[in-house]
Amino acid sequence: LDAGEFRRQGRQVVDFIADYYARIDDYPVRPAVAPGFLAGKLPATAPSTPEPDALTAALRDVRELILPGITHWQSPRHFAHFSATASNVGALGEALAAGLNVNPFTWAASPAATELEVVVTDWLGKALHLPERLLFAGGGGGTLMGTSCDAMLCTIVAARDRKLAEIGEERIGDLVVYCSDQTHFSFQKAARIAGIRRGNCREIPTCRESGFVLTAMALQAAVAADEAAGRVPLFLCATVGTTPTAAVDPLRELCAAVDGHGVWVHVDAAYAGAACVCPEFRHAIAGVEAVDSFSTNPHKWLLANMDCCALWVTRPDALVAALGTDHDVILKDAARGDDHHAAVDYKDWQVALSRRFRALKLWLVLRCHGVDGLRAVVRSHVRMAAAFESMVRADARFEVPVPRQFGLVCFRLRPATQLGGDGDGVGDDFTASNEANRRLLEAVNATGRAYMSSAVVGGMYVLRCAVGNSLTEEHHVREAWSVVQGQAAAILATATA
Ligand code: PLP
Repeated sequence: LDAGEFRRQGRQVVDFIADYYARIDDYPVRPAVAPGFLAGKLPATAPSTPEPDALTAALRDVRELILPGITHWQSPRHFAHFSATASNVGALGEALAAGLNVNPFTWAASPAATELEVVVTDWLGKALHLPERLLFAGGGGGTLMGTSCDAMLCTIVAARDRKLAEIGEERIGDLVVYCSDQTHFSFQKAARIAGIRRGNCREIPTCRESGFVLTAMALQAAVAADEAAGRVPLFLCATVGTTPTAAVDPLRELCAAVDGHGVWVHVDAAYAGAACVCPEFRHAIAGVEAVDSFSTNPHKWLLANMDCCALWVTRPDALVAALGTDHDVILKDAARGDDHHAAVDYKDWQVALSRRFRALKLWLVLRCHGVDGLRAVVRSHVRMAAAFESMVRADARFEVPVPRQFGLVCFRLRPATQLGGDGDGVGDDFTASNEANRRLLEAVNATGRAYMSSAVVGGMYVLRCAVGNSLTEEHHVREAWSVVQGQAAAILATATA
C-alpha cells in the first residue's frame, strides 16, 4: 500500500462518489435491464497483468456500465423496502475502517476497536432508551454485526444451548420457537440453522382487525398447547416494525404471556428501533425491560452506511457459552481484565472469527450528528410519510388499509374502484383488485421516477411507500404521489374501457 498512490487514488474515488451524489436524481431509480446484461459487456476472465491506469479505466466502467444497472438505493425517489440511510460520515467511517483494516476478533487483536464497540453500543442503547440491563453499564452488553439475521441466529443458539444444558441435549427435537406470520423470514432461517425442527416453528396468525400484531392471547394458547404435548417453549421473536406494515408487537403483554415458561424473548426492531431515539416513539418498546435481547439496524434509519446491526443481550455469558471457543492457542493472548473492565472477545459473541471495525462509523455518526441530529432525521421522514398518507386519503380511489406506522405508508386502489367489491376491505375477494394494484406498482416503478415495493397482508396486496432516504425532500414525496395518481388513472381507464 503506497501512501502517495493511495492519496491520489483516494481523491479520484471521493470525487467520483461526490459527482454521483450530485447527479443521483437524474438516474431512473430502478434500472431497465434484464438478467445477464452486464456479463456480456465484461471480459470472461480477469486480466493476468495490471491494466494501465486501471483505476481510471475501472471508474469509467463503473460510470458507463455499472451505474446504469444498479438500483439507486440512495435516490431521493427510492421508497421501496426499508431504506439504507447514508451519510457523509457513515461512508467515510466505512472508508476509515477499510483503510485501517483491523480485525478485532478478540480484545487483544485490536484493543481500541473492541473497546470502541463496547462504548458505542452503550451510547446507542442509551440513545434508544434501552433498559440498563441490556447495556454493559447494567451487566448486559451490545455488539455490532452485519445483519439482523446474524443477531437472530446467535441469540437462538444461545437460548438453545442454555435450555439444553437444563433439560438434556437429546431433547433438541422438543424445542419450539414462536413468531407471527408477519415476522421476517430470516427468523425461520435462523431457527432452522439452529437445529429447530421445521414443524416446531410456530408462525402464529395475525389479522387486519388487530393491526397485524402478535397478540398475547394467541401466543399464550400456542405455548400452552406445546407444553401440554410435552414440547419445550424456547424462544419468541417479537417485532417492532414488521417488514410488511411496520406493525408493533406489544412487548409488555407478550413478555407477560411467556413469563415463567423459560422463553427467551428477542426483539427484532431492525427498522423501527431507530425511531426510539425520539421520546415520542418510545412507547413502541414499552415493556422492553423484560426482554432478553434486542436488535436494530442503524444502517436502515440511523445514517450508518451498510452494514451495521446492533444486538444487545442481558446475558452475554449465554452467547459466550454457546459460541465461545478457547481451543485456539494462537488467540490465547487476551487480557483478562479486572473487576471493572472485563476484556470482551467479540469472536465469542458471533458465528465467525473475523469481524469488521463497524464501531468506527457508528461512533462518527453519533459524534457528527448527535442524538438530536438523528431525531431530526427520523422526525422529518415521519412528517413526509404523514403528508403522503394525507394525499392518499384525499383521493377517493385509494385507501390506506392499515394504519401508517413511522415512515411507512401502505396503500392501495380500493376494491370497489376496480370490480364492485363493497370497498370496506373486510371479507372482500381481493383477487381482481390485487391484480390491479400489482399492475399499478409495476407501472409506477417502470417510470423510473419513483420506486416502491409491495406486501401481501391478510390476502390484500398493498403498495409500500417507505420514506426514509437521506436525500428525500417534500417535493420528492409529492412527485411520487403524482406518479402514482397518473399511473392509476391510466390503469383505471383501461379497466373501464
Ligand atoms: N427484520 C425486519 C423487521 C426487517 O425488516 C428486515 C429487513 O428489512 C430484517 C429483519 C432482515 O434484516 P437483515 O438484512 O439485516 O438480516
